[in-house]
Amino acid sequence: MDKLRQLDVAPQKLFLEGSWTEGSGQTLEVASPVDGSVLTTLAGASATDVENAVASARRAYEDRRWAGQSPAARKQVLHRIADRIEAEAVELAVLGVRDNGTEFSMALKAEPGSAAGTFRYYAEALDKVAGEVAPTAPDVLGLVHRMPVGVVGAIVPWNFPLMIGAWKLAPALAMGNSVVLKPAETASLTLLRLAEICSECGLPDGVLNVVTGAGAETGAALAVSNGVDVLAFTGSGATGRKLLEASARSNLKRCYLELGGKSPNIVFADAPDLAKAAKVSAAGIFRNSGQVCIAGSRLLVEASIHDEFVELLKAEAESLRVGDPLDLSTRVGAVNSEEQLRRNLSFMDIARSEGGQVVTGGARILEDTGGTYMSPAIVTHVARDHALFQREVFGPVLAVTKFETEAEALSLANGTDFGLAAAVWTENLSRAHRMVAGIRAGVVHVNTYGGADNTVPLGGVGQSGNGHDKSMHALDKYTDLKTAWIQL
Ligand code: NAD
Repeated sequence: MDKLRQLDVAPQKLFLEGSWTEGSGQTLEVASPVDGSVLTTLAGASATDVENAVASARRAYEDRRWAGQSPAARKQVLHRIADRIEAEAVELAVLGVRDNGTEFSMALKAEPGSAAGTFRYYAEALDKVAGEVAPTAPDVLGLVHRMPVGVVGAIVPWNFPLMIGAWKLAPALAMGNSVVLKPAETASLTLLRLAEICSECGLPDGVLNVVTGAGAETGAALAVSNGVDVLAFTGSGATGRKLLEASARSNLKRCYLELGGKSPNIVFADAPDLAKAAKVSAAGIFRNSGQVCIAGSRLLVEASIHDEFVELLKAEAESLRVGDPLDLSTRVGAVNSEEQLRRNLSFMDIARSEGGQVVTGGARILEDTGGTYMSPAIVTHVARDHALFQREVFGPVLAVTKFETEAEALSLANGTDFGLAAAVWTENLSRAHRMVAGIRAGVVHVNTYGGADNTVPLGGVGQSGNGHDKSMHALDKYTDLKTAWIQL
């Protein structure tokens, strides 16, 4: 680990048509949130570089160098990619942590671990999806083919770049598409390495291209490109809106948006085990410094247990070791960037000014390390109209609100524009089912927070987005249906 954390990282280039290319846009410096040191530089892809990447992906798609291979051959390549990610898991995790600050104990499992699993899942899925024979008429053979969409533009964020990158890449590649991938400015390094791994494992040149650079330039150029058929995006709602506008201004490409959340974690007085609920709830908001799209950032707690539960949570929060993400005992790593840390702290100021009471945390700590660290914060007395109730912080800040009845809990749970995730803690099975049915969200956990697997979809409703990553349902994003009507 000590050796890996000190390895020099070479200046990065763009990955186009299977080789490294200088960008013609502005070079970006990569600062490590671990200690503020400069890790390396990223190439900035200009609009012309992006068009070259799209053209490369288009050529690869049109000449069928990937889609034209047998399913068995494509499956083998995806499995080889998974093997390599597993073989390089520690190196990838350390590189990713130096780049984005996630605690290693989480990153190892959530990044290479999860990405390898995703490539394996879609390797196995690709020869299980077939078209249909439709019951049209006796003298007609009606076939419904599932076709690749062509060129996919994938734009991903910085919180779990490898995991979320794999959520887009693996199903898109499994269905025979070509991809142009745009990682986030503050977390590009592992995805650049992944591109190289894909190439070394037999993915033909041009099928995967990676363009790095600023969102407003490189990302915007990809979004508006007429050569992109589908945009698969994870990130903020503000950027999601820009992508929809870019689609409307260009070729009406389909846009799948996985956006933010303000997910309610609802604890009833009849929760099976309050101590366990507090432990899991603390992890559900504070791991990766709260930079998790499904983070349980609003605690809704029944009034009769409010004080007891907040005490338990406070003890949990204060027991989490915050600091050097490459130290194996660290439970909360660094905030991704100075900008994100400033944003988190400004939310603390707003919360106080609106009447929220800070029970613990909420300050910058370990400043002498040069890194960006924040103590996990719990804020009580948060009302429905407070910013902390309505707006996503994307940091280690838990907003606590009391409720008296199940109806009030449901109304509070659904009281934001978001709808990504939720949890309900209760021993009452009927209540659990009522809440699952009533909560507007893509996933509702019961008596836990944050379980996930490749077999189940992840997606939001409302302003948390549309479409789904993971599971067989994700394949719909990367395929079109085509009917063959054959008169016999
Ligand atoms: P962001 O929207 O700022 O950036 C995401 C990506 O979009 C980056 O690659 C960025 O460079 C690019 N981008 C920025 N401006 C662009 C533009 N004008 N045109 C095209 N691309 C542009 O989001 P972020 O800060 O990187 O990520 C945090 C957000 O992502 C949070 O809201 C979080 O909840 C959300 N998120 C959602 C999920 C999910 O599955 N729903 C998962 C993880 C993160």
